[in-house]
Amino acid sequence: MTIENDTYMKELTRLIKKVAKEYKERLHSNLIFNEKLSKTHCEIKLKEDRLKTSNAYILRNKLKNEYLIHFDINPMDSETLIAIIIAHEFAHLLFKNHNDLMKISDLGLDGSTGYTAIIRRLPNGDKYGVELEELLCNYLAYFIVSKMEFSDEKVLKKFWNSHNLYIADILQNSFGGGKSLLECEYIDEYYYSKKDRKIEYNYFWNCILMFSFHNVMMHFERIMGKQTFQKFCDLFDQKNISEAEETLLLFREKKEKIRV
Ligand SMILES: [Zn+2]
Repeated sequence: MTIENDTYMKELTRLIKKVAKEYKERLHSNLIFNEKLSKTHCEIKLKEDRLKTSNAYILRNKLKNEYLIHFDINPMDSETLIAIIIAHEFAHLLFKNHNDLMKISDLGLDGSTGYTAIIRRLPNGDKYGVELEELLCNYLAYFIVSKMEFSDEKVLKKFWNSHNLYIADILQNSFGGGKSLLECEYIDEYYYSKKDRKIEYNYFWNCILMFSFHNVMMHFERIMGKQTFQKFCDLFDQKNISEAEETLLLFREKKEKIRV
């Protein structure tokens, strides 16, 4: 390893620590999250192909109850983008349960269990994977990095547009008291509202911290009425189906042009 790389590795390590610190603060030093963080090992590799964007993944050692996050970093990527990638992996810690007692989607709408995602089907039977966990991790990563002093607005905007984050925003805003996460300073916000004389908190993220997607659905229906979560999912489907159809149409148009 060259000296230059060594300096860069130190910089990356510092960035990882910075992102972790930001999470701790925004989660009011949540004990569960902190414990998971203390059991997380990170390894960094520099990407050899400088044309490829940085990426990462998280693995869990069930026996040891430890986590390993592997970062494949392209030094050509901006600090903001790398911070988003780091923050995305840390966000996964929120969804991983120590004891596997309950998973985020412990009760799927189709009666299935064990998914960490809402996977739905197009009318032709194809699955489309709007994986809720991935989507929320992106949303959370955006939130965390946008609070950090070095964050570059242009990079954040590009990330927002390319990751359909508006869907997570709809979901977040669908909950009673529906303050968007982006308007909050904290993820698990508990605060006293003088006007309403009540304690408000971010129920959505609280459910996620408790690893209960079932609670999220129950809460949604308590506020919005019976069967509304199904309706919400149907709307979700419609949007994705129409997008899929649009893509198909574009594809067909292109084909036609080629033929002409
Ligand atoms: Zn992910």
